[in-house]
Amino acid sequence: MKCKAKTKSGKRCGMSAMKNSDFCYMHNPETQLEAKSFQRKGGKHKVYVINPENVVQDKRIKFDNATDVREFLTGMINDVMQGKIDVRVCTSINYLLNTVLKSLEISEIEKKLKELENKVGIESDNEADNILNFTGW
Ligand SMILES: [Zn+2]
Repeated sequence: MKCKAKTKSGKRCGMSAMKNSDFCYMHNPETQLEAKSFQRKGGKHKVYVINPENVVQDKRIKFDNATDVREFLTGMINDVMQGKIDVRVCTSINYLLNTVLKSLEISEIEKKLKELENKVGIESDNEADNILNFTGW
């Protein structure tokens, strides 16, 4: 059975309800305080949870440029400061975002290189193109 609590946005919580309760661990009045203090205390009692209210379901994030990444990071920093997401989640996402940034950077360089090649009027001698077009097997 699902938790009967509603999130700030008015949606159903979506977490599984606890045994003999209509609510999940986070929303059950009997465990809510405990859950919150676990989140705050840290140390050996630290429970790493993502606030179910902040789980965006079926949403795909797209990063087209560094500005997108920066805006997302800024939002995430605010969420961490407000305790909405766990700092460990933030660290993992940050790691992935660095990879996204690197690939955006490479795409940008490739784009500029192509433009230059077109201007000068030379054929691309891109190694990746050569591998893709290789028919010598
Ligand atoms: Zn709940």
